[in-house]
Order: sequence, then structure tokens, then C-alpha cells
Amino acid sequence: MTENTNENQLHDVVILGAGAAGFSAGIYAGRARLKALVLDGMGGGGQMAITDIVENYPNLVEPISGADLAENMRKQMENFGVSVTFDQVEDVTFEDDRVVLKGAYGSYQGKTLLIATGADHRKLGAPGEKKLTGHGVSYCATCDGAFFKDQPVVVVGGGDTAIKEAVYLSRIVSKVTVIHRRDELRAEKVIQEKAFNTDNIEFEWFHVLDEILGDKKVTGVKIRNVKTDETKEIKADGVFVFVGIVPNTELFKGKLDLDEAGFIKTDISMNTSNPRVWAAGDVRAESVRQIGTAVGDGITAFLNIQEFLDKN
Ligand SMILES: Cc1cc2nc3c(=O)[nH]c(=O)nc-3n(C[C@H](O)[C@H](O)[C@H](O)COP(=O)(O)OP(=O)(O)OC[C@H]3O[C@@H](n4cnc5c(N)ncnc54)[C@H](O)[C@@H]3O)c2cc1C
Repeated sequence: MTENTNENQLHDVVILGAGAAGFSAGIYAGRARLKALVLDGMGGGGQMAITDIVENYPNLVEPISGADLAENMRKQMENFGVSVTFDQVEDVTFEDDRVVLKGAYGSYQGKTLLIATGADHRKLGAPGEKKLTGHGVSYCATCDGAFFKDQPVVVVGGGDTAIKEAVYLSRIVSKVTVIHRRDELRAEKVIQEKAFNTDNIEFEWFHVLDEILGDKKVTGVKIRNVKTDETKEIKADGVFVFVGIVPNTELFKGKLDLDEAGFIKTDISMNTSNPRVWAAGDVRAESVRQIGTAVGDGITAFLNIQEFLDKN
């Protein structure tokens, strides 16, 4: 991480967010010898840094910890002369010839901006959730489902993602128990039918999760019937929480076109509704939210930024 010496400089590109998308764009920017600034309010690594084990990112012959994968990307970027500046950006202004960002420690200017601020999974806020995240509590079935082969798991939520992921998990685990506060699902009918026709998916209707049990790893959950207030415990090795995703786009409301859920709309080149601004990774509308796709988005965005800079 570097000290803030970037205040009065006009950078070719400012990359906001040093997760998978930001690192990949930073690596390309360094190799292109552009004047690039990467900003991150948490120091960098993003969601990778809180991921226990990654085994589905290509080139990993052996699984790797998310933190190590993030550090490798950071070092690779630094090898090309680009490092992360620590600052949480609090305001953005789009001017005719530049973008100006104001952070807690300074202000920054770029001819172009790449937004790679990612997204956060909405948390339940239940006791045990924070402590056991990465130790049985997960927000991504594609990422972590394989770690629960032939074991019972719980899925919390009733929307499209929750039920799709429950069906996905049912092919790997011994049993999926879906916990839902109502007695009907919000998921598309076709996905619901698939779930209802899957033998090892069960439903706990009218229930909410009160506590995730376990000391070093998840052993079960305590759930409560919202009609009777009765509680009971269910044994489970994994708890998959799908109660929504919150994009980190607060800064851009009213300034860029966002979809209904607040994700940034882009075209195929990752360009947003502002010609100087691109978005990549989980923050982008229609992202499938994986490390590999965030990396790909970052590269696509960067190459299009480079083309823009060549022409302007
Ligand atoms: C527990 C867990 C396990 C996962 N496992 C896998 C897996 O096995 N395989 C897989 O492919 N994917 C996995 N994923 C998904 C994957 O991690 C993400 O899709 C990917 O890392 C997203 O990268 P990103 O660069 O778009 O955003 P992020 O990783 O979210 O990074 C965004 C960065 O932007 C910074 N930032 C945000 N706002 C600001 C601001 N205003 N100012 C400054 N900085 C800011 C944040 O600090 C953060 O570092 C997992 C996710 C989680 C949560």
C-alpha cells in the first residue's frame, strides 16, 4: 500500500476497488505503462480476502486460500508498478474532461474511471453468523457447495437465488432444508417446481433463523416458527444465506444508470452511461459474481479504456 501522493495528479485511469476486477485491470494498466491509480478503502483483496478456499478459478492445480490468491494478484500488479492507495471514496464528480473522487484522505483525478467496488451479501445478523463465516456459513453455493459433499445443509431465503442454489446444492449434499419466513416462495414458478420435485429438498415454512450453532465450525441452526414462536434445532454442516445482495453503488446514485437493484448498467465493453466511466465485476448489472468473471470484466473494461484514451 502507498501513501497518498496522488492528490494533484491527473491519472489516465483511476480504478476504484482492489478486488479481482480492480487487480486485473491494474495489471493490464501497469503493463500498458499508463498512469494508473488504484484506490481501496479496505486496503484491497475484496471478497477474495474473506474467502476460505478457492478451487474453481482456472490455473489452481491445488486449492488456494482466497487471501493468498488476492495477495498473488496484488504482487503481480505491483510487479508492473501499480500499487493500492488506501482510501475510502466518499464523493464522485463527473466533469467534462475528468472524473474527480473525494476520499477520507484526499482527492483524486482521472481522465477515466473504472468502478470495481463489488457487492456485499446481505447478512442475517444472527448470532454465530459472523464467527462462522468461512467455517460453514457461506453466501455462494457455486463457490462452497463442494465442501459439503454428502452432508446436510440449510438454505435461508425464498427468492430466485435461494431456490436455484438449493437445487444446485441438492446434487452435492445429502439433504437441503430451506428455511423461509412465509409459506410460499418468491422464486420463479419453474424453479419452484424443480425444488418441489427434488427428493432431498425439504422446507421449513413460516420459520426464521434465530442462531447458527457451532464453535469452530457449523453444527446446526436454531429456527423459530413466526406464528407460534416455538423454536427447534436442525443439524447441519453448512448454512447458505441468500437474502439479497447489496451493490456498492451508493456513490453513483443519480449519476449513472443503475438497474432496479442498484447495480451499474454497462454495455458489452463495460462502459456505463458516462463515456469516461466503466464498471467491472460484482458491481455490474448481470454479473454472475465469480472471481473469474470479475477478472474478465476488469480486462475487458481496461482494454476499452485504453482505446478511449488513445482516441481522446
Ligand atoms: C465467502 C465468499 C466465497 C466466495 N467464493 C468464491 C469462489 O470459490 N470462487 C469464485 O469464483 N468466487 C467466489 N466468491 C465470489 C467472488 O469473491 C466475487 O465474485 C469477486 O471476488 C468479486 O470481485 P470484485 O472485484 O468485483 O469485487 P470485490 O471483491 O467486492 O472488491 C471490491 C473492492 O472495492 C472496495 N471498495 C468498495 N467501495 C469502495 C469505496 N467507496 N472506496 C474505496 N474502495 C471501495 C472494497 O473495499 C473491495 O476491496 C465468493 C464470495 C464470497 C463472499
